[in-house]
Amino acid sequence: MEASKRPASSASSTLNRPVDAAYPLSRRAREGRDAPISWLMRQALQTPGIISLAAGFVDHATLPHAELAELASELLADPQAGRQALQYGTTPGDPALRQAIFDHLATRSPDAPVYQRLSPDDVIITSGSQQFLYLLAETLLEPGDVVITEDPSYFVMIGALENFAVRLCGVPVDADGLIPEALDATLADIDRAGLLSRVKLLYVIPYCQNPMGVTLSAERRPRFWDVFRRWRERGLAAVVAEDAAYRELRFADEDIPALFEQPEADDRICYTQSFSKVLAPGLRLGFGLAPRPLRDSLLHFKGYHDFGSGNLSQHLALRALQSGVYERHGALLRERYRHKKDLLLHVLRDELPDEVELLDPDGGMYLWARLPAGCDTGTDSDLFRAARSENVLYVPGEMCSVQSWPGGPDGEIRAENRCAMRLCYALPDDDELVEGGKRLARAIGTVLNA
Ligand code: PMP
Repeated sequence: MEASKRPASSASSTLNRPVDAAYPLSRRAREGRDAPISWLMRQALQTPGIISLAAGFVDHATLPHAELAELASELLADPQAGRQALQYGTTPGDPALRQAIFDHLATRSPDAPVYQRLSPDDVIITSGSQQFLYLLAETLLEPGDVVITEDPSYFVMIGALENFAVRLCGVPVDADGLIPEALDATLADIDRAGLLSRVKLLYVIPYCQNPMGVTLSAERRPRFWDVFRRWRERGLAAVVAEDAAYRELRFADEDIPALFEQPEADDRICYTQSFSKVLAPGLRLGFGLAPRPLRDSLLHFKGYHDFGSGNLSQHLALRALQSGVYERHGALLRERYRHKKDLLLHVLRDELPDEVELLDPDGGMYLWARLPAGCDTGTDSDLFRAARSENVLYVPGEMCSVQSWPGGPDGEIRAENRCAMRLCYALPDDDELVEGGKRLARAIGTVLNA
């Protein structure tokens, strides 16, 4: 059975890169799609005055340049520490930073059994959490393997997985996150197709999910493991990848322990987080924890990627953690994003009819809107054109959708995702958010009233 292809319409036709036959490209280079966001960002750059609610950039005005300037000058003024930071580092990363990250996580969840089992040696510093996820894909996947993700999910990861020519199976998500019963049903479908042994990876974003903004509820987390354990007993070998990129941007004061930290957790789980969202994406720094055998394979590949992430960034991140800059900036951003989310939600609620469903995000940077059935949001749709002429940009739901196999009709994107959109409120300032919300509401109004 072939892995299903996206229909040659709408977004996909704009994302398939022209291939120059004169170059002896690899299969992955020939068949891979461009990341959808690159296409959207080009649209934004080419259009003066456009308000982009599409790009997932962080709040610009509060990027901690002064705090990092101080930390950098302290670091570089010290000849010994400065030279060390400017030298190559090691593939797994700076030992002091790995220790600080381990302590940061373990202090927040002191009872989590995983921190008894693992140690700072199991932490890998990566060039963004993106690299950790990519290394995991590289370590585990062969063409034709099966990967389960939430549907919708983080589009860069979906694109990366498609480029590995795997079969993707999407599990629906509601306001409480991934639906455990739907995961069970998906695994049953895969089993019936005789492919349970080909399921290599289960990728989940259980905090302020990208793109829906929802968090997997505390109540569902043990149920997730119940389902998983039952299938483990039937031969499921898959590794779980828990992407906690937005964990520290939840609006609620109380943290929910990660899937990785649950007493019921399976030991074949990896956990990744990022310095991009809470500190500064320009550092290009993330980290992940993986069980030993997997960690060694990830490091093997990382050795060939870059033999270590930026050492200077690592030393800055360490000082940010030690000095309290990291903690303070996280608190500031949570307030800022809550304010921006409320502002955008308020404008949209005021301006849009009730038939447009707006999910109130649990934190993070994204708001998910669902339009009535039949109101397509794709790049070939009337709505996308109306939004372009209003000079506002959103991410169409289809770009975040998994073209599920074998669940759902082959090649189809879940209908409700075709009528949904992701709105990022993190970058625009208050005036732009209000204006962007109004423009979007006008575009939606035009299409709904047509
Ligand atoms: N995971 C999710 C869910 C994301 O939204 C992003 C970035 N938008 C990443 C991972 C990667 O982030 P980074 O590489 O900057 O850590």
